[in-house]
Amino acid sequence: MASRSERVLIVGGGLGGLAAAIHLAAQGQRVILFEQHEQVGGKLNLHTAEGYTFDTGPSLLTMPWIIRDLFATAGRRREDYLELVPVEPTCRYTWPDGTCFDAAQRLPDLLDAVRRLEPADVGGLLRFLAHTAGVYERVSDRFLLHPFDGFAELLSLEFLQNGLRIDALRTMDTAVRGFFRSPYLRQVFNRYATYNGSSPYLTPATFNVIAYIEMVEGGWYVRGGMYTLARALLRLAEELGVEVQTGCAVSAIETASGVVRGVRLADGRTVAGTQVIVNADPRYTYANLLQGQQRTALRLATLEPSCSGFVLLLGIDCVYEALRHHNIFFSADYPREFAAIFQKGVPAPDPTVYVNVTSVTDPQHAPPGHMNLFVLVNAPAVNERVNWRREAAGYRDTVLAKLERMGLHNLRQHIVYEHWMTPLDLQQRYNAAGGAIYGLASNNPFTAFLRPPLRAREVGNLYFVGGGTHPGGGIPLVLLSGQAVARRVLDDSCKVR
Ligand SMILES: Cc1cc2nc3c(=O)[nH]c(=O)nc-3n(C[C@H](O)[C@H](O)[C@H](O)COP(=O)(O)OP(=O)(O)OC[C@H]3O[C@@H](n4cnc5c(N)ncnc54)[C@H](O)[C@@H]3O)c2cc1C
Repeated sequence: MASRSERVLIVGGGLGGLAAAIHLAAQGQRVILFEQHEQVGGKLNLHTAEGYTFDTGPSLLTMPWIIRDLFATAGRRREDYLELVPVEPTCRYTWPDGTCFDAAQRLPDLLDAVRRLEPADVGGLLRFLAHTAGVYERVSDRFLLHPFDGFAELLSLEFLQNGLRIDALRTMDTAVRGFFRSPYLRQVFNRYATYNGSSPYLTPATFNVIAYIEMVEGGWYVRGGMYTLARALLRLAEELGVEVQTGCAVSAIETASGVVRGVRLADGRTVAGTQVIVNADPRYTYANLLQGQQRTALRLATLEPSCSGFVLLLGIDCVYEALRHHNIFFSADYPREFAAIFQKGVPAPDPTVYVNVTSVTDPQHAPPGHMNLFVLVNAPAVNERVNWRREAAGYRDTVLAKLERMGLHNLRQHIVYEHWMTPLDLQQRYNAAGGAIYGLASNNPFTAFLRPPLRAREVGNLYFVGGGTHPGGGIPLVLLSGQAVARRVLDDSCKVR
């Protein structure tokens, strides 16, 4: 048990901060968590208006066993807090030429759908799954379940050998082309690069495991809305004794002789702590919350952020029968779309549009006969080439016109409620550098080694958790990050005693 004077302070109540708090509190640590907003959850957020409920961040949950394990750590059953629903089909994909593909959860149905597009790709899919199963096995232990501490580990021979075996030396697109003939299926499988905010033409083929995980472990939804997950983690954290202070922005991390002493809050109060875990973006943290860390701040600023997003929340007064829970309306030229986002740093003129409709599964999320559309387009991280204040309205029209062309006829006439969020809004709301959705991009094989480590090197007893550190962004990885950082903190405290 921790003594009264020892307490861990957590800056930020996103999923990473909440997971770290739960793991530590379950081990008897005293934890205080500060969240700048009135609600916890961070990017897992909620917007309600005029009878519509929208999840405004993540909409798809993978690797549900991580949530089960998180509750089990605290001696609880996930089922007592949350209902997880498999989404069938996982996603409906539509192309500009009218081709449609439903990614079914059951393998026989998925193989039938693949056969309809390209019979030769049935074998390709089975080979793809066998190949990625091996990569997943190697990656999960080394990168996911036991995240490492950074660049030094790159030098270990074991690691280099492993690097070769995890398909890190070719791009996702190159690998996908080797397995699939159909241009449609190639686009479907390349899309998984966007699950960590990267480009399939740059990201290592290792990340094909994302498709494997979704196809084998399923795509899930949290009954009542994804935000229910944040509520459940908050409840669990508080039951374990975590003191959660919302509406409480941290303005500085206090240090003395290179070791953290606590945090200063925006209202001027200071709170002492033995360790500080920061769930806010490390780039923002070094630049804004730590004194005398300009060198690290400048170095981190050179790292490529993941893509951001342009989001439209639409309440519509009709039901489009063709819409499923998850829908993708593809662009005609995928390489051009990613070149716009990552090389030119501008919004894609013909974007792939994702539409999530939770009212398909949770009818109370929209009035009867209506739908709630969460529309997401990958967008470049905030940069000087795009002035979103000027361009948002025009881009909104580009996106809606595309959806109208691809089957959502007269969509604009059916909008009765509308709200949008640009990369600038994401940056400001969450203190996420560049408005990045997933922290850093994984657009080359070395990005994993350049991520800020869980344990800061520059300041003693300072740690990071969440999408900006290891193992990366997305709900499951961020939750694993919470587990990993808690282990670091506990191990380090044992060494000191
Ligand atoms: C539009 C969108 C769609 C997405 N879709 C998916 C998806 O379908 N599936 C998936 O798995 N993932 C998805 N993601 C990614 C996922 O949401 C994130 O990876 C994850 O939620 C990040 O959690 P985090 O704990 O790292 O950080 P955050 O959620 O960013 O939490 C950080 C917290 O710190 C707080 N904070 C920052 N600065 C301070 C301060 N100074 N003082 C106090 N508090 C502070 C912030 O307010 C915030 O609450 C999506 C994200 C977005 C934005």
